[in-house]
Amino acid sequence: MATDKIAKNLERFAQAIAAHDRENPTHNAWGIGMNGFDIERLGLEEGEEILPGIVIQVDGGVTGNFRVLCDGDHDEEREEAEAEVVEAVATQPAQMPVAPQRQED
Ligand SMILES: [Zn+2]
Repeated sequence: MATDKIAKNLERFAQAIAAHDRENPTHNAWGIGMNGFDIERLGLEEGEEILPGIVIQVDGGVTGNFRVLCDGDHDEEREEAEAEVVEAVATQPAQMPVAPQRQED
């Protein structure tokens, strides 16, 4: 299980919600909106409570990003409430630079 990835995403969700609440003190965040594809590949389930009071919701948005869902109005600020999903797909580990080859002559 990619629990570290999930933990990283939970961290992102929590940060995004905190940022959202700070910028929109009159809104109440209640969920994280994600494309169904992302929910599946992260091993999450729609309706799952991933953080206290925060549930996962399929929103049909673009993949690779998630949206903070709230009871407020965000038509214009929607983009600001958007953040990237952390490495949802298994990625190659970062390659360490190989030591320069010595010329032998
Ligand atoms: Zn809001």
